[in-house]
Amino acid sequence: MPLLARMVESPLSIDIRAGAVGRLAELLADGRISSGGRVAIAVGAGLGEEIAQTVRPQLDNADIFHLDGGTVDYAREFADRLRGSFYDAVVGIGGGKTIDVAKYAASMVGLPMVAVATSLANDGLASPVASLEHGEQKGSFGVHIPIAVIVDLDYVRESPLQWIKAGIGDALSNLSALADWWLASRVRGDEVDGLAAALARSGAEAVLYHTEPIESDAFLHTLAEALVLSGLAMSIAGNSRPCSGACHEISHAIDALYPGNARHGEQVAVGALFASFLRDDDFVGPLDACLRRYGVPRLPADLGLTNEQFCTAVSTAPTTRPDRFTVLEDLSLDSEQIRKRVDEFVETFSR
Ligand SMILES: [Zn+2]
Repeated sequence: MPLLARMVESPLSIDIRAGAVGRLAELLADGRISSGGRVAIAVGAGLGEEIAQTVRPQLDNADIFHLDGGTVDYAREFADRLRGSFYDAVVGIGGGKTIDVAKYAASMVGLPMVAVATSLANDGLASPVASLEHGEQKGSFGVHIPIAVIVDLDYVRESPLQWIKAGIGDALSNLSALADWWLASRVRGDEVDGLAAALARSGAEAVLYHTEPIESDAFLHTLAEALVLSGLAMSIAGNSRPCSGACHEISHAIDALYPGNARHGEQVAVGALFASFLRDDDFVGPLDACLRRYGVPRLPADLGLTNEQFCTAVSTAPTTRPDRFTVLEDLSLDSEQIRKRVDEFVETFSR
């Protein structure tokens, strides 16, 4: 019997629990990441001081860095500061921006990175991708996958509801991204990685059919797992394909054209519902129902955009990921056709 198997790069440990930040030293020692606590801890601007005070008594060998930026240059500067000393690991505690800067800097200096998420706004916590500002644009940069992922549900519950809703949107958008991947496979012969697709779909479907309240432990745990599974799916696929299709192209276009209105996960939620409507997917009904149930944006107006602005974003979307084939590239709609489909979309889902 052949015993060949592929190796899958994944974090050594995934720990989703309430009070994780308060037990960080123990978790680092238990995970064999740092027994002496000689780590560089990066905390973000928002909760930084509160987190530093929780962490300081348990980890007196650690250096704490207060981060307040999200650009590639800022992450490089942080990497330079890390080179000034010897550490077992870099621990990024906070939301997406802090974790992404810590991930990028840790990759640059070749240190393992521990992601401690205090919010669930996107699927970056366990992914091999750092999303950073570069010039005028936001770019996605390949980095090492975190060695450990810890989610503190106490902090998540205290985070703005809008961030959790954004996380729901990012998790659910996998369904649309996967439908685009299969479409690309049928039309263009792209190869779908079955394991990556299975992970991305399982996480998204667990959220899709959840009915517990948004702030319940049961729901937040499922959402955290879905976002972690998305990260693993991207790691296995070697790109963002299992979690990013037309939904994300539309969001990237909105970022470029109308920045600052809404969060990534909210934009991809609307993008996913629109793309699923264009493909006439079986799951479009449950997707709409889940977004409604948890109060996640569904229509352009929910993002503060007019229908015209959304049409412009849809027509620009394919240029944001030139090699990605999705329903937008497949239909290749002209501006009049886009206007017609967007009007139908808004009409259908406003009811
Ligand atoms: Zn995303």
